[in-house]
Amino acid sequence: MKFSELGLSEKVLRAVSDAGYTDPTPIQTQAIPVILQGRDVLGVAQTGTGKTASFTLPMIDILAAGRAKARMPRSLILTPTRELAAQISNSFETYGKYNSLSMALLIGGVSMSEQEKRLDRGVDVLIATPGRLIDLFERGKILLTGVQLLVIDEADRMLDMGFIPDVERIGKMLPSNRQTLMFSATMAKEIRRLANEFLRMPEEISVAPPASPAETVKQAMAVIDARKKRETLRALLANTDVENAIIFCNRKRDVDVLDKSLRRHGFSAAGLHGDMAQSSRTETLSAFKAGEIKLLVATDVAGRGLDIAGLSHVFNFDVPTHAEDYVHRIGRTGRAGRAGQAYMLATPSDGRYLDAIRKLIGKDIPKIDIPGVEITGEEEEEEAPAPRSRSRRTDASKSKNGTERKAKSGGKNDVEAAEPPKAQSAQKPAPETNRENRRSGKDQPVVAFGEHVPAFFKTAVPVSR
Ligand code: AMP
Repeated sequence: MKFSELGLSEKVLRAVSDAGYTDPTPIQTQAIPVILQGRDVLGVAQTGTGKTASFTLPMIDILAAGRAKARMPRSLILTPTRELAAQISNSFETYGKYNSLSMALLIGGVSMSEQEKRLDRGVDVLIATPGRLIDLFERGKILLTGVQLLVIDEADRMLDMGFIPDVERIGKMLPSNRQTLMFSATMAKEIRRLANEFLRMPEEISVAPPASPAETVKQAMAVIDARKKRETLRALLANTDVENAIIFCNRKRDVDVLDKSLRRHGFSAAGLHGDMAQSSRTETLSAFKAGEIKLLVATDVAGRGLDIAGLSHVFNFDVPTHAEDYVHRIGRTGRAGRAGQAYMLATPSDGRYLDAIRKLIGKDIPKIDIPGVEITGEEEEEEAPAPRSRSRRTDASKSKNGTERKAKSGGKNDVEAAEPPKAQSAQKPAPETNRENRRSGKDQPVVAFGEHVPAFFKTAVPVSR
């Protein structure tokens, strides 16, 4: 099947061809003709399947006829995160380059005055996170009665993040004779209920997930003492051919600590997590995508949905506590047939999370030796953990003698020496730090759920280590 057989306009086809795409993906082949007919669609597809283009391409053609009125968007795309919203808007820019559609983004963390001005002038496409849209609606800045087309993207993540009541509220503000497209990676009961509420006789399209990264990405791990994590990471970075990489941490606090540490050791790094202002998140992502920053230290905010092409490596600085997140994290590399490598740093107490990951991917992750790093065993250590006081003494003596050394030295002594005391352990911050972090929410685990979320997972539970 060719793009030209799907019923898209010449302008859209030209933009698709400019983007370098020759053949539609399965979700595009199935969804585009149905959407162009004006029918509702329930798409069961995850990121990586080409689902964004499956709705943006026909939407551009549907919206090409007609004009936007002030404060009355003609279409609305609801998305769970700001990053996905930005990605969808890029997609409209890429594929809509020969059309003159106007667009506004309503996402948390950005100044709204410019977006409100755009809305005042009238927009064809409004991309919004639910909370921000409700805010603006309540302030009387927007009318949703002109929305002919609604897209609910990543409905399962909306569910995970507790947005469904907001989505339902928004649904009541929209005209009932609209066209609705809903996408979700899974079809949980609650999603099915939402689909029944929002969609009218939808065409249900389900596509296989993209090739499992568990098969296409070369994986390896090392079990080490928690205090050796930064040292080990630096040794890995020095010994592997890293072009660009995302380094995943479970907590925002650890992103900050690791980012600073890497920069202090001369690496080109930047942090990305949900507590950062939207402007610096966007700036960081663009710098990383442009190759100006080589290492992006991030929480799972960056793990889902983000399309960063050509990533050579992924490092799991922490073992994810939800096995599905492992697959999402390593799936950032090895995309579109490219080779990718994923390394994970585990500590002796990560046993049960590792077991869950192995079970999910259906295989073991090979363990590797890293020059200059003492490797500990998973099971033995679990039974007889090394006394904390001993390691603390060792580290303390190091920091007295230590001076900042070149990252590539790989020697043991350059390790924790340059780190401030609060960064010494990835496990337990000093009491004051703990209090500060609790206040700022930085020591809370980042809630990032996988595809199959049992109900009891839907509340954030602090992970005890
Ligand atoms: P998505 O599932 O929408 O997140 O898309 C995943 C990636 O596939 C993005 O980098 C898209 O630009 C890319 N993509 C979308 N459509 C196609 C296509 N027909 N052929 C190849 N890549 C595509």
